[in-house]
Amino acid sequence: MKNKPDTGEADHLPQAVRNELISLAISAKEKSYSPYSKLRVGAAVLTASGKIYSGTNIENASYGATVCAERVAIFKAISEGHREDIVGLAVVSDQAQPIPPCGMCRQVLSELPEDVRVIMAGNNGEFIEERMSKLLPYKFYL
Ligand SMILES: [Zn+2]
Repeated sequence: MKNKPDTGEADHLPQAVRNELISLAISAKEKSYSPYSKLRVGAAVLTASGKIYSGTNIENASYGATVCAERVAIFKAISEGHREDIVGLAVVSDQAQPIPPCGMCRQVLSELPEDVRVIMAGNNGEFIEERMSKLLPYKFYL
């Protein structure tokens, strides 16, 4: 669904909402702590009531302790009592092209409602909006 025009269909978030999420993800990216990869990433999570939780990637010299922007934003939302009412997430980086969530983040996203919209936006204005269930069709579950 690259650069699909806003038709008002329920298949994607309204353009104004999408733009706000992307904007807040960009703001979060500015707070990135990424001295090792040098890749700044920002994310913003939207709830049905309109609350937005943002996050950025936080790296560590012990690489396994690094946390992606998407997980920071999602964990902030969940720790404030949201999960079932999360409706969207935007992720941005310093790259021109849209950057998709890594596999670990997709698994975390898979605990959210299946129709959560994931917006991947590049600096060049290009974006991809996809349902969570399409990003990880065979999630791990117990
Ligand atoms: Zn990730």
